[in-house]
Amino acid sequence: MLSEVFYSECLFCKQKISFTDLICEVCFNNFERITFSCHKCGYPLESDYIICRNCFQARFYEKIMVSYWYNYEMRTLLKYYKFHYGFKNLKIFERLLSGLCIEDNYHIVTPVPVYISRRLVRLIQPAYYLSKIISKKFGIPYKTLLKRVRFTEYQWKLKRNLRIKNIKGAFECMDDVKGLKILLVDDIITTGATINECARILKKSGAKRVDIFCLSKGMFL
Ligand SMILES: [Zn+2]
Ligand SMILES: [Zn+2]
Repeated sequence: MLSEVFYSECLFCKQKISFTDLICEVCFNNFERITFSCHKCGYPLESDYIICRNCFQARFYEKIMVSYWYNYEMRTLLKYYKFHYGFKNLKIFERLLSGLCIEDNYHIVTPVPVYISRRLVRLIQPAYYLSKIISKKFGIPYKTLLKRVRFTEYQWKLKRNLRIKNIKGAFECMDDVKGLKILLVDDIITTGATINECARILKKSGAKRVDIFCLSKGMFL
């Protein structure tokens, strides 16, 4: 009787699942793990090339870890998350991060910030919660280091060369980061222009090393 009442539906296939879950086991397997990455920096690649495009340009981060492709399931989940914040979502993100292995000792984990007016629209920032989960899981202190100081057009609306221009000077570092090893976190990257700009600012402010963790990688069109 109780189990009849306390169930919910899988976000994708509508199958009955435990009320504490958001996605069923079968659909969870549709999140697509990234298999190939740049041998130098770890940037996700569609096939096994050796070096990524970013390694031929000015790259300010050392290493990047990205777990999944931004496929239909990931897009749906991140969209759903924006409007339905709750423990189920945190649980699914914890689960998505369960295979994550962080070897280095970082001084701080910090999210890529969202512009303030956009933050009002998007009250829920996945990058913030992902940073919090990583902080708890690996015992890395959490701190907000970066602030958006300039409005920028959505990166996905722009072509590659315009993305770099669009994002330049959009961030400021609010804290003393001299000599620190920092893990910067975001929910999605497309070309890496935003995270690279964040890394540039952190390095310019004295950070010793900046690595990136990102939940998903969108296909670059
Ligand atoms: Zn399902
Ligand atoms: Zn690379």
